[in-house]
Amino acid sequence: MDTKLVGGVAHYQLGPKGAEIELNSLIGKPLKILFQKEINCTNCGTKVKKAYAGGYCYPCSLKLAECDMCILKPELCHYARGTCREPSWGEANCMIPHYIYLANSSGLKVGITRNTQIPTRWIDQGAISGLPIMRVQSRYQSGVFEKLFASEIKDKTDWRKMLKGNNEEIDLEEARASLFELFGEDLDSMEGDFGAAQVEILESEQVTTIEYPVLIYPEKVTSMSLDKMDIVAGVLQGIKGQYLIFDTGVINIRSHTGYKVALEF
Ligand SMILES: [Zn+2]
Repeated sequence: MDTKLVGGVAHYQLGPKGAEIELNSLIGKPLKILFQKEINCTNCGTKVKKAYAGGYCYPCSLKLAECDMCILKPELCHYARGTCREPSWGEANCMIPHYIYLANSSGLKVGITRNTQIPTRWIDQGAISGLPIMRVQSRYQSGVFEKLFASEIKDKTDWRKMLKGNNEEIDLEEARASLFELFGEDLDSMEGDFGAAQVEILESEQVTTIEYPVLIYPEKVTSMSLDKMDIVAGVLQGIKGQYLIFDTGVINIRSHTGYKVALEF
């Protein structure tokens, strides 16, 4: 799903380029997702029985830098050691400025993202607010700081809780201040290690708030998957994070990357 923030509201699109469907306009109406029993590798297009690493064939999942472990754990980025699977991909995607941010998804969390992925990354996680707190010069550096902050606050989203709505209010600016106070000495020494020009502490960024197009939040979150059923159908009650919320259950669209489907509405 492609996402964008328009007037503070998350907007979702689904489908191939040029033929995208505006999903927000389907909310409140019946929608059917019909699995065409075909999964294709996002990279090479090969037909596969099972997708690896979020939408790839097995050979691509072993070969591509974007499927490497360091994508999940940025503090393990090994570009500097000369062992990146695809150095040119690493240069374009990892050796570029990254942000460390705070967000309220299922509660307070810390995360990292590339320069260009704010606020998309927050929408992907179903965060109702986000605040960049540091800017660094590479994915590796962002991972090191994220890990430091993750010793104090969560770095994961509880997706079931996120999908139930009713987030507690969290003052992200206050959370930023207490983290900087708590980790002041560590930040100083890490800034010394990386070089002051590499690390920017952002003390006056503004909080972005995000509303989601949801009519009714589920009381009980039932997960649906095209691996278990050929048709997912119901009344679309909303969209949050990477999930379509039906009156019959929820489906994670991201985890079906590469699945060929038809939509009926
Ligand atoms: Zn492939």
